[in-house]
Amino acid sequence: RAKTDGRGIFRVYSPEMGSKMRRYHYLLEEMRLALATQNFSLSFQPIVHVEDCSIDYFESLVRWNHPAEGMITPGEFIPIAEESNLILELGDWILFEACRQMAAWYNAGMRKVRISVNISAVQLKHRRMHQWVMQTIDKAGLPPSALLLEITESCFIDAPQKVIEEFEKLREDGVQIAIDDFGTGFSSLSTLAELPIDVIKVDKLFIDQANVNPKYDKILNSISELGQHLNLKIVAEGVEQAQQFELVKKLGIQCVQGYLISRPETSRNVGSKVLNSNFSQVAQSGTNVWQP
Ligand code: C2E
Ligand code: MG
Ligand code: MG
Ligand code: MG
Repeated sequence: RAKTDGRGIFRVYSPEMGSKMRRYHYLLEEMRLALATQNFSLSFQPIVHVEDCSIDYFESLVRWNHPAEGMITPGEFIPIAEESNLILELGDWILFEACRQMAAWYNAGMRKVRISVNISAVQLKHRRMHQWVMQTIDKAGLPPSALLLEITESCFIDAPQKVIEEFEKLREDGVQIAIDDFGTGFSSLSTLAELPIDVIKVDKLFIDQANVNPKYDKILNSISELGQHLNLKIVAEGVEQAQQFELVKKLGIQCVQGYLISRPETSRNVGSKVLNSNFSQVAQSGTNVWQP
């Protein structure tokens, strides 16, 4: 595909483009194969309450262990899956698998914990959200109140009213909605008040900056207050240091997610380790018991 390069120069081909295209088509074919041969899996990362470090929910994160290349990151393959629409098929698998796993945990007695699934813009465009989600959780045997959908802030901004209404219907049925990577998409405060959401996940960028730049303390503080006024739960993403945990706590943010508490884990490890652990000790000592 020909593109202009910003300076208005029309470029038809460069060697670098050729290798990118080859990689794109290679990964796309390999993803099709991986879907057919069940080579994708899900990891689960806990989001915990700051107050007592009890688990609020697990975020499901897709993993691809390629037979020859090893782990390929979602940062590399999700954009390709989106551009090719393969995310529709992959996303169907992800939603069902996450719900199926959570239903198993739910039936084993884990009643207060929920599961979240990341949804991409392509899915919002091509799937009728309410029907698709309700049918999937029904098939998996999961109550709607155990599910949360994560949609990025930029997706929300571009979403047509029709899509927003789908979320409203889902919320009426008990499914919760989180706005992901908040602070990177520039939504106005008035749109935020109107959106059908329950949770705001503040982007890692803000948590990283808060330690070095006091202005970001104030921004985080405002987001925290906003959450209280709008009755939204705030989650701080990417908390890696005990110092960040303390800051977030001081600012009144309710929940944290990050390597300090736990890395994303296999379902097996969630079952055996995570459910028996004491996260508050982890947060206080600043050591991560999940690291090998
Ligand atoms: P996200 O939804 O914002 O997910 C959080 C990402 O931050 C995950 O990366 C997680 O492993 C990482 N993370 C969590 N805590 C920390 C921390 O303390 N430090 C650092 N450096 N990173 C942390 P992951 O799994 O590589 O996923 C990256 C992105 O790929 C996700 O960002 C999401 O946008 C997308 N993605 C992942 N799984 C799925 C999926 O199942 N469906 C869709 N549509 N997108 C997905
Ligand atoms: Mg997410
Ligand atoms: Mg995020
Ligand atoms: Mg993020």
